[in-house]
Amino acid sequence: MALIVQKFGGSSVADAERIFRVAKIITDTYQAGNQVCVVLSAQGDTTDDLIEKAQEINPDASRREMDMLLACGEQMSIALMAMAIEKLGFPVVSLCGWQVGMNTDTNHSGARIKKVECDRVRDELDQKRIVLVAGFQGVDRHGDVTTLGRGGSDTTAVALAVALGADLCQIYTDVDGVYTCDPRVVPEAHKLDEITYDEMLELASMGAQVLHNRSVELAKSYNVRLEVLSSFTGNPGTIVKEAAKKVEKTYITGIAQDKKIARFALVGLEDVPGVAYKLFSVLAKGKINVDMIIQSLGRDEQKDIIFTVADKDVMDCAKLLDANKDTLNFDHMDINTGVAKVSIVGAGMLENVGIAAKMFEALYQQHINIHMISTSEVKISVLIDKDDSDRAVRVLHNQFFQ
Ligand code: ADP
Ligand code: ASP
Ligand code: MG
Repeated sequence: MALIVQKFGGSSVADAERIFRVAKIITDTYQAGNQVCVVLSAQGDTTDDLIEKAQEINPDASRREMDMLLACGEQMSIALMAMAIEKLGFPVVSLCGWQVGMNTDTNHSGARIKKVECDRVRDELDQKRIVLVAGFQGVDRHGDVTTLGRGGSDTTAVALAVALGADLCQIYTDVDGVYTCDPRVVPEAHKLDEITYDEMLELASMGAQVLHNRSVELAKSYNVRLEVLSSFTGNPGTIVKEAAKKVEKTYITGIAQDKKIARFALVGLEDVPGVAYKLFSVLAKGKINVDMIIQSLGRDEQKDIIFTVADKDVMDCAKLLDANKDTLNFDHMDINTGVAKVSIVGAGMLENVGIAAKMFEALYQQHINIHMISTSEVKISVLIDKDDSDRAVRVLHNQFFQ
């Protein structure tokens, strides 16, 4: 008997027919003699619809109330799935984040899990029930509902797998596994049988939404055996693990894009020590996460600092900078939401000269202009116009994988 955590994403439970298809996967796993703990996301576009509803009422709603609203989507899914499993004649119980002791910090809409108590889950499993847990949600020290950030149900699943000491954590989604690139953008992308935690973490952090990046971080820290597979096809998926066997000697594992990003330029800052420190301290205090950063050469005792933030932080970031305009002492601020970040990811990148040149050549041949570049040991990212992003991903896939 094994203890298996299974997670099903929004599209896998979007309607009654899909709920019953998933119920069958769950009950088959249970009937095979396993203990099964299942994490569910909100159905289809429910989370987006709830955000839209909130916008109609108050576009400046507090993050606390947004969490109260968004957590409803996952609660609906677990109740409906429990009803389906009851109908199939199996013992089942659905539980919200607070009922399973999914304790988080107080950072609403981007909460981090601090501890999973999960005594209740264990009791229910011991009583031979299938346990359904609402993904994406937790509870903070005040007893308030929190959410883990978009795509966070994957992290709920891995956190439960860690806390329960599960033998396997299966992430069921709407594609067959992890591909060299989003298969919806590049149909020629190929499925990877295996990928390392590090490479997956980098791909997920660069925008490959197939896994929430924090779920991969957790899986790596606790060595959770993670499998990404389709709830539709029954095909074998992708195993995410410490070391992966490489069929062919490629230096690039995959390509990712992030269209939910914006570029801020602060123009005419003083060219003196401490300016960057002041700016990024203000942003850090406002809990704004900054990604790429460049600073221009000083001229006429002035310089510019350009950086990117996630779309969801644009309003807060702009307000914060406006409120601190006098202390930061810049001439003006330019915000561009029409940008995207495209990254090539691979562990073998460092030892191989010419990879950056090969990347920039492919973009140049398509006349795609690069606004910013950043590199690390395992990735090269460029900031380009959002309208060019899909084309850039295709041409890069062609350059490195064809
Ligand atoms: P779920 O609702 O199951 O959590 P998501 O929409 O969050 O599903 O993630 C699955 C989607 O991720 C796929 O439909 C695919 O379009 C996208 N995706 C992006 N990059 C990749 C990749 N490298 N491999 C597989 N899927 C990817
Ligand atoms: N329902 C949430 C979202 O759409 C969480 C998730 O699907 O993982 O972001
Ligand atoms: Mg997801």
